[in-house]
Amino acid sequence: MTDIVDVTKVPARQGRMIALNAGDMVDVVNTHGGQVVDTWAFSRDNPAEYMSMEHSHVLHYRLNFKPGDALCTDAWRTIMTFVEDTSPGIHDTLCPACCEPSYNIFYGHKGYHANCSDNLKGQFEKLGVPFHRVPTPWNLFMETIVENNNTLRDMPSTTKRGQYVRLRAEMDCYFAVSACPQDLIVINGEDGVPRDIELHVHRAKSST
Ligand SMILES: [Zn+2]
Repeated sequence: MTDIVDVTKVPARQGRMIALNAGDMVDVVNTHGGQVVDTWAFSRDNPAEYMSMEHSHVLHYRLNFKPGDALCTDAWRTIMTFVEDTSPGIHDTLCPACCEPSYNIFYGHKGYHANCSDNLKGQFEKLGVPFHRVPTPWNLFMETIVENNNTLRDMPSTTKRGQYVRLRAEMDCYFAVSACPQDLIVINGEDGVPRDIELHVHRAKSST
């Protein structure tokens, strides 16, 4: 039923967007370990409707999600379910996607730096889907934690080679990821080197 696997390789520092049908499952695989993956989902019927971290916080009254949790859109519709997690289980839900100004302002980078916001926009252009915004991503494998009930702290990702998060689409959606190009702080593992990842899609119907 869901045994057909399509593999999409996502090179380091790049993004990809794929169409999922309701019932399809996708594994976000940390091929080499330590890589943060900015993750989004958008309704295929209305790409302005997006998987919302803020709404999902309120749905569960928690800042982090765990297997079994539904993820909802800004219209409170369930778009994905968090099915399985073989990683250490910390996935930031608070930080916006990195963008060209963030590298200039926060890290003193001069000139252009590849970034997750542009990676997402580029995938919308590539697929010819109307682009509306860069929502706050679900930052899979990103261990930015809340300390003392209020302070944010960036920790290197401790996800190991081959660990993955499995999600199920609950509506027809566009599923997008960016293998975060951040190399100026240590979120992408102790050495801070961006690496490629893979998406493994288990199709609910073999005819699609
Ligand atoms: Zn990023």
